[in-house]
Amino acid sequence: MKSQLLDRIATNLLLPRGTPARLDWLHPAIPAGKHTSKDKEMNDAYTGGCACGAIRYEISAEPVFQNDCQCRDCQRKSGTGHGSYLTFPRDGVKHSGPATLWDMVGDSGNVKTRAFCPACGSPVYMTFAAMPGVFTVHAASLDDPGRYKPQAVTYAVRGHEWDFLDPALPKFDKMPPM
Ligand SMILES: [Zn+2]
Ligand SMILES: [Zn+2]
Repeated sequence: MKSQLLDRIATNLLLPRGTPARLDWLHPAIPAGKHTSKDKEMNDAYTGGCACGAIRYEISAEPVFQNDCQCRDCQRKSGTGHGSYLTFPRDGVKHSGPATLWDMVGDSGNVKTRAFCPACGSPVYMTFAAMPGVFTVHAASLDDPGRYKPQAVTYAVRGHEWDFLDPALPKFDKMPPM
């Protein structure tokens, strides 16, 4: 399997100039008649966790806010230009696993607590001292990250030119009033 993939990459790279690159293997088409996760997402809990599976969560509520955040902390934590988050009412949240908690003062001046896996290092969720009623998860920690639908870009003032996000999204210099 792996060698087939490498063969295909090699083939793509060796195409003569002007030939359209055959990169369709990157996005396998969904066979007609097959249902996507979108068909059943309405009432399904949001589930996810870290890369090694030690931390898991299940959230039986709809997100109240979904955002890409370009603040410096989200840059450091993600290793790239922004973090992507879904924020839920805390009441609907069940989580398990030995998360390492790390408190820090965000660009907002408020304390936020990052929870990450001590074994695999994945950032999984965040809580906020000033907003104890909410629970925020990293979009990529979802079992189905396709359910993330960003609504806004926050701390756009810290964004880098190379971190190009959907221009249709409303941008806020900091956090919008919540
Ligand atoms: Zn883990
Ligand atoms: Zn941020």
